[in-house]
Amino acid sequence: MDIQTICVHGCDKRYDNTGAIAVPIFASATFAHPGVGESTGFDYSRAQNPTREHLEHTVAALEGGVGAMAFSSGMAATTAMMELFSPGDHIIATDDLYGGTYRLFDNISQKNGLSFSYADTVEGIEASITPATKAIFLETPTNPMMCVIDIAAVAQMAGERRLLLIVDNTFLTPYFQRPLELGADIVLHSGTKYLGGHNDTVAGFLAVKDEELSERLRFIAKTTGAGLSPFDSFLIIRGIKTLAVRMERAQESAQAIAHWLQGRDEISTVHYIGMPEHPGYAVSCRQASGFGGMISFSAQDEETAVRILERVKVIQYAESLGGVESLMTFPAIQTHADMPVEQRVARGIDMRLLRLSVGLESADDLIADLRQAVQC
Ligand SMILES: *Cc1c(COP(=O)(O)O)cnc(C)c1O
Repeated sequence: MDIQTICVHGCDKRYDNTGAIAVPIFASATFAHPGVGESTGFDYSRAQNPTREHLEHTVAALEGGVGAMAFSSGMAATTAMMELFSPGDHIIATDDLYGGTYRLFDNISQKNGLSFSYADTVEGIEASITPATKAIFLETPTNPMMCVIDIAAVAQMAGERRLLLIVDNTFLTPYFQRPLELGADIVLHSGTKYLGGHNDTVAGFLAVKDEELSERLRFIAKTTGAGLSPFDSFLIIRGIKTLAVRMERAQESAQAIAHWLQGRDEISTVHYIGMPEHPGYAVSCRQASGFGGMISFSAQDEETAVRILERVKVIQYAESLGGVESLMTFPAIQTHADMPVEQRVARGIDMRLLRLSVGLESADDLIADLRQAVQC
């Protein structure tokens, strides 16, 4: 079935016989047993709830996985996944990483005995492998620099060495990119972003390709207890129904905006993976079916960056991305504030860099907003 249809219908399983078109919110913490030693398939909502199950089946189908788990945030999903590892294990991650993921690795996982190396190329990752390495964690395209890495090339290397390959697919979503099909073992999502799509719910997902790994993660999810609530599961199910049209539209506007930004003297660099001059363009064309709606760009100086942020009206200055409302962030002082300054600046996350999540307002209005904001 085409992914657009999966977005709308989700999984086929019916949970009641009323004919309800929308999946009901099963607001029940617990479920009665039909007899001793019997179960309806649902016992207690921390372990599983019908609304959450429907959502999980939908996300698994979208990612082409055997299973998926829904969590109360993207970070809760990442934290649960880190329970796969033990003290002494080493993980290699892409250099440019969502700030919260970096904060988790650096402050919590490290305290728990894991160690990390960072690299930004396939060769760099390979060179960082040690006998203790257990996994490779990729974000592609990265947040906020929009660096692209070849998932299949890393998957081949990881497979040869029996390393787990984890891909954060938040930016492109399964609508444009399906890492499990390219050889990844686990796909991670902040469902808060494009999957939910309305800036109204915080959620996270893990999707997996292998039954055994799925069982291990489900055990961790049930035991650590950060499963997504039935109410929030309902909102994400509703969001996913329009994922395809939202991604297409955000991409169309992002193309136009990236092009417009590139023509302005006040803007020195535009990072959009859909531009042929972007270093990741060729790999993106190979591994994804679209370029998404995320752009980052460097203003000519800090003053201009601050002016843009303070003047935008249709676009709002706020953290997060992937929703119907366009949002702009200042990574250096928001999402990446916890990263040491030298590291941040070395990666280009300086006081001139802004990140724009293109929403579903008219592209003309968004460009007009940027025009009035950027002009002196
Ligand atoms: C937002 C985000 C996360 C974290 O997800 P939350 O839902 O905020 O916990 C992880 N990775 C990326 C790429 C993100 O943008």
